[in-house]
Amino acid sequence: MNVTLSLTDKQHDQLTAHLFPGDGKEAVAFALCGRRHGKGEQGLLVREIVTIPYHSCGVRTPECVNWSTSQMPELLSRAERTGMAVMKIHSHPNGYPSFSRTDDKSDREFFSYLGIWLGDNSPHASLIMLPDGKLIGRTINQEGQFRPLASIKWVGDDLKFWGCSHLDSNTIPEYGIRIAQAFGDGTYQLLRRLKIGVVGCSGTGSLVIELLSRNCVGTLVLIDPERIEEKNLNRIPQATMEDAKCRAFKVDVMARAIGEMGFGTKVETFATDLYDPDAVRAVTACDIVFGCMDSIDGRHLLNRISSFYILPYFDIGVRLIADGAGGVEQVCGSVHYLKPGGSSLLSRGLYTLDQAHAAALFSTDPVAYAEQVGDGYIEGVHEEKPAVMSVNMVYAALAVNELLARLHPYRLDPNAEYDRHTISLSHGIYEHAAHDVPCALLSNHLGRGDVIPLLDMPALSDKRKESVA
Ligand SMILES: [Zn+2]
Repeated sequence: MNVTLSLTDKQHDQLTAHLFPGDGKEAVAFALCGRRHGKGEQGLLVREIVTIPYHSCGVRTPECVNWSTSQMPELLSRAERTGMAVMKIHSHPNGYPSFSRTDDKSDREFFSYLGIWLGDNSPHASLIMLPDGKLIGRTINQEGQFRPLASIKWVGDDLKFWGCSHLDSNTIPEYGIRIAQAFGDGTYQLLRRLKIGVVGCSGTGSLVIELLSRNCVGTLVLIDPERIEEKNLNRIPQATMEDAKCRAFKVDVMARAIGEMGFGTKVETFATDLYDPDAVRAVTACDIVFGCMDSIDGRHLLNRISSFYILPYFDIGVRLIADGAGGVEQVCGSVHYLKPGGSSLLSRGLYTLDQAHAAALFSTDPVAYAEQVGDGYIEGVHEEKPAVMSVNMVYAALAVNELLARLHPYRLDPNAEYDRHTISLSHGIYEHAAHDVPCALLSNHLGRGDVIPLLDMPALSDKRKESVA
């Protein structure tokens, strides 16, 4: 089974501060990790870090560390109660980039202790941190054999992926050469092995999908419940009149276009909204996700998924206000980058919880929604809006360039200053800003991974789906 690990920049900072106190000696910490159970693979998501005080370590030298087990019972009881994985992390201040024989012996003892205590077969992990911040990790099976982690994802203002298998640079095909020339072989290879989710395949989503495919992203997961209609044809470049006539699903039209491009991009499609547990699970298995939705509840739900599963989230919102008779009041839009554990669309003030509730009711229970709007309890949320492809294209391109900047930082200023871009085409405004105050609501869910019901939301329980079916 392939095991991956995800952690945030703040968690990495906390580990660095403890593991490299400046005395040149090894140090040790533990983490409790939520789990994401996939097909033949499992994701570990760092939820909480427990540092072992230096004075509790029996031995601390530049090559070795051991520690008192006094903090273990409490840590292991919590792992047992919550089903979380236990991860051990120690430093190699001398920069030795592998597990040593001492580490092998120590890990075998520790994992055996864990196995006896927890009595489970689920993977736990051991990591080394090097002085440059790089992490190297492995799991151990019941026979005591070690296996490297398939990848380690570091989610911060930049995005780093350690331990990913690299392709031979000679294998870069002609269609990828210009990308490699711009951002280097390493970034091209990374794009090729990334799995990116796009939720919403209409006005902005279809353009994001086109850009991601042309930029050689390896796998795309596409989610949208709608079918192509003639009114969409002004802004979905992959769609034809024939698609509108036969009412093809938008995700199927996207998959066909990506297949015809011939880059070998893998595509998974879900012709449902994000309230489908299968669609949620498919998103959680992605490395990165783009939200290209109008709906407040969809964006709020995706931000929640991003927190539970440490998933970097790029959100696009376009606002075109016109009077319907040629009068344009406003043409503007924003691209938000959302780091799990950081600020959210909610905490940035894009909507209120009441608005998210009203929008969710519209999606999940239209009858109750209509009653509540009729009774004046909530404001109406659904309206047909004007939409123009050339406008959408500005923000779709901005969002994909934002991804590239996070994978391969190329700006003069640090990425932290670009959490939000806003462009008003009507008012001649371009601005970007940092949003560094964590969301009080969503940051509580950081790294929780799989829980029952999914995302702690009864609306997403599989039982409900079965009874509806
Ligand atoms: Zn070591």
